[in-house]
Amino acid sequence: MSVRDIRILGDSALRVRCSEVESINDEVRQLVDDLLDTMYAADGIGLAAPQVGIPLRVFVYDVREPEVEPGALINPRFVEAGGTIRDTEGCLSIPGLNETVERYAEVVVEGLDREGREVRIEATDLLSRCLQHENDHLDGILFIDRLSPLKRKLLLNKWAKMDESEKRPAGAF
Ligand code: ZN
Repeated sequence: MSVRDIRILGDSALRVRCSEVESINDEVRQLVDDLLDTMYAADGIGLAAPQVGIPLRVFVYDVREPEVEPGALINPRFVEAGGTIRDTEGCLSIPGLNETVERYAEVVVEGLDREGREVRIEATDLLSRCLQHENDHLDGILFIDRLSPLKRKLLLNKWAKMDESEKRPAGAF
């Protein structure tokens, strides 16, 4: 168990299309445990493997709601998605920026858990948003890519001028 360094916007690791995990071994379980430690240390609600520089299709999530179990998802695939909803999002790899992003309102995701068991997650609200945000990371996509070019440019200018003390990532994924 250890906290790894979170890669920040500008790091090429965030732009890689990650590979499927071929077998769930000790190394992958260690990665899951480290992702959880790193996510909690950063006060985040989700974290994907490329955010710690590992190009594998693995992410963890904990939206801190009593009725939603935290977990890890390996080789996730979206099997259903419906409706749209707009809400605020942030990212541990772009600390300090938050913006409204349109996402599917409801999703169903299948994949493997830390032990290699097949899981199926039916998600709405924050969990749905979190799963879509993390899955984007596995394809090298960041939430700012889902904004208009003008909005993205304004936000990135603002981020570039931010003081380090303003770049607090709390509650981001
Ligand atoms: Zn993120």
